[in-house]
Amino acid sequence: MLDSNEPLVSVREVQLHYRVGGALSALRGRSSVVKAVDRVSFEIRRGESVGLLGESGCGKTSMGRLLLKLEEATGGEISFAGEAIAGLKGAALKRYRAKAQLIFQNPFDAVNPRFTIRAALSEPLENAGIPVREREGPIIEALELVRLPQPQQFLDRYPHQLSGGQLQRVVMARALILQPAFVVADEPVSMLDVSVRAGVLNVFRDVRDRLGLTAIYISHDLALVRYVCERTIVMYLGRIMEDGSTEDIVHEPLHPYTKALVAAVPVPQPDQSHDPLPIGRGAPDPRNPPSGCVFRDRCPYAFERCASQVPRLRRVGTRNVACHLFEETALSSGRQ
Ligand code: SF4
Repeated sequence: MLDSNEPLVSVREVQLHYRVGGALSALRGRSSVVKAVDRVSFEIRRGESVGLLGESGCGKTSMGRLLLKLEEATGGEISFAGEAIAGLKGAALKRYRAKAQLIFQNPFDAVNPRFTIRAALSEPLENAGIPVREREGPIIEALELVRLPQPQQFLDRYPHQLSGGQLQRVVMARALILQPAFVVADEPVSMLDVSVRAGVLNVFRDVRDRLGLTAIYISHDLALVRYVCERTIVMYLGRIMEDGSTEDIVHEPLHPYTKALVAAVPVPQPDQSHDPLPIGRGAPDPRNPPSGCVFRDRCPYAFERCASQVPRLRRVGTRNVACHLFEETALSSGRQ
């Protein structure tokens, strides 16, 4: 049995490397391996909400899929409640799937358009072996949990008869209907109108707190992560750049990439200075990342060592940072 102080989720040196292209790519001098996730390590305590933050292609969605065993890691180990998930099969994998759920990004893709809401919410119950006559109660409870008023009125409707906000609540209800311990929410409001995002986010926070869920919230939007998560892990080209309390990261980012993300958040006061860090647009080709630090070709602080050595994630004060600029700080705090 898991000690209450032990992490619920433990990720150790996890890799997801894809082989892409073939002989032609090799002839063009491009590596045929994409490191979607590269030697990533972190832990999540029970009840903790962690944001996975970064630009498109940084590996955050791949990391979420690895955590749910929707992808198999090509290296390292992921454990849930003290048990490695790599070896889960059959009934054990089914049990894990019930405990660890995904809230999809696009509600319009997540629900079969030919299913009524009742049928969509019945599916996970059916997979869990719950007989038809016992499904209506949990379906209504799940819809009430995500604050869909008068849930009976939705049961026989089809997805196209619901608004985006209502459908995303249905997607949330489906993820929660088996009472999971852990959820991965992959940009759950990015496809919704701005006007309904706050309502859906409030439901997510409320449900998470009421059920004591452990959650990963994947997003490219620092403001949303700040609203939802107490801790943030910043990723870039498959690696962790910084991992710490969200408020520390927002108020005093340490890694140059995190500084750029924070500086890019629009400032609502026109008289307040807004000085984005000059890192240029877009990450490099993941098939051909820079040597040493993967951020170095966009980093305004890069120096010689950055081209030859990969910076390790080190403890700096209360957080972890992967940057050569902080190695001395890390070493001296380690000596104290
Ligand atoms: Fe910039 Fe070097 Fe730090 Fe990478 S290791 S973020 S290139 S200073």
